[in-house]
Amino acid sequence: MTVFSRIIAGEIPCYKIAENDRFFAFLDINPVNWGHTLVVPKKETDYIFDMDDEELGDMMVFAKKVARAIKAAIPCRKVGVTVLGLEVPHAHIHLVPLEKEGDMDFKCKISDPDPARMKELAGAISSNVDL
Ligand code: AMP
Repeated sequence: MTVFSRIIAGEIPCYKIAENDRFFAFLDINPVNWGHTLVVPKKETDYIFDMDDEELGDMMVFAKKVARAIKAAIPCRKVGVTVLGLEVPHAHIHLVPLEKEGDMDFKCKISDPDPARMKELAGAISSNVDL
């Protein structure tokens, strides 16, 4: 079971943003920028391009709705989309609010993000999600 499956199961706490029957979104615990969100399928697959076409397409549509909520909650030019998957073997999409290219530099994470701010951001984004 991956760490993300344990989050989805409620075994590990997270700053939850949204879920439906197949997908789950929550704040990245080591964000590259405030509001950095992960979108994951509930069905475990390591590599995103091993997901079947319909599941992958539907995950992107779910991510689009979460990205709109991020943009509504956090002033930014655009919400950037990245796939890495080098650390956690459970497919996921990174969504990061951007003002400039450097806002999505994975070598510059916010260390020890303030839990109160994370909780506040998750609440603000979550309240704007329209699934
Ligand atoms: P990668 O697999 O390279 O896309 O990176 C995995 C991402 O998951 C990193 O940005 C981590 O900060 C994030 N991450 C790992 N564990 C957790 C967790 N328990 N809660 C939230 N985010 C996590």
